[in-house]
Amino acid sequence: MEVIRAETLGFCPGVRRAVELAEKAAIDAKTSARKAWVLGDIVHNPRVTSRLAALGMARLDNEDGCIAPERLVPGALQGSMVVIRSHGAAPDIIKAIKAAGAEVIDATCPKVAANQKAAAAQAAAGRLVIVAGDKGHGETLGVAGHAPGSIIVSSANEAASLPFDRPMALVAQTTFSEDEYIAIRELIVSRQPDLFDAGGICSSSRKRRAAVLAFKGRVDAIVVVGGRNSANTKRLAELAASLGVKTMHAEKAGDIDASFSAYKNIGLSAGASTPDEDIDEAEDRLLSLANKK
Ligand code: SF4
Repeated sequence: MEVIRAETLGFCPGVRRAVELAEKAAIDAKTSARKAWVLGDIVHNPRVTSRLAALGMARLDNEDGCIAPERLVPGALQGSMVVIRSHGAAPDIIKAIKAAGAEVIDATCPKVAANQKAAAAQAAAGRLVIVAGDKGHGETLGVAGHAPGSIIVSSANEAASLPFDRPMALVAQTTFSEDEYIAIRELIVSRQPDLFDAGGICSSSRKRRAAVLAFKGRVDAIVVVGGRNSANTKRLAELAASLGVKTMHAEKAGDIDASFSAYKNIGLSAGASTPDEDIDEAEDRLLSLANKK
């Protein structure tokens, strides 16, 4: 069996930076007896979140992304640190965290920050900002939070019901589907030709997707490693399945079943929130299945 790694896989630069900043903050907080929080899961990956939890870092918000009001009363976070993950956050939330007394460690990916800035500038210029992204996704909510009155749409179908009576601007969630973004843009332009297209899809996603497509004709099975809740990992697994070969989305090496020992060439990919250790262990697992045959 040969395991062929995708040319681009695993942590993207923004996630690597955010995880490193969070780990440093957790260690600093521990050594100075301060409390460390993170707003949302730093990434959708159990290994990374467990490592931070072991260092004493806890989530400030609940699973729904809401922060309990008592945590935000003035002084409630005095002396603590709050990490803003690579997805970023809406400005009113960051303001409330600072007002509660916390030091904010801003690990927003610079590319996400650029989208936030573009959305804010377009809203200030009087355009209705449309954010093309997944509803409820932390990054999308954060970008929308920078553009008062903005609307999030996830498909061209949804975009058909937008109000087209004013100048508009379109900005993307960095990991959004490029095809869906183009479909949304075409729909809006057909009704409101004066659209400002701010773009914003990250090339990191594009590279991971291109690397999966490059498996076509070279492999007879594909394993995509990444957290169950990782949107970009799920999209990579869907893309891999579209190549017509056996595909598995594995959260961890142990999920990979023995049936993979039957394949000669296996492509290995991983989402942007997947740490190197998960990828190495998945490769080891595949090779050990081959050896057991
Ligand atoms: S996918 Fe791109 S925009 Fe998103 S965190 Fe990674 S580098 Fe930043």
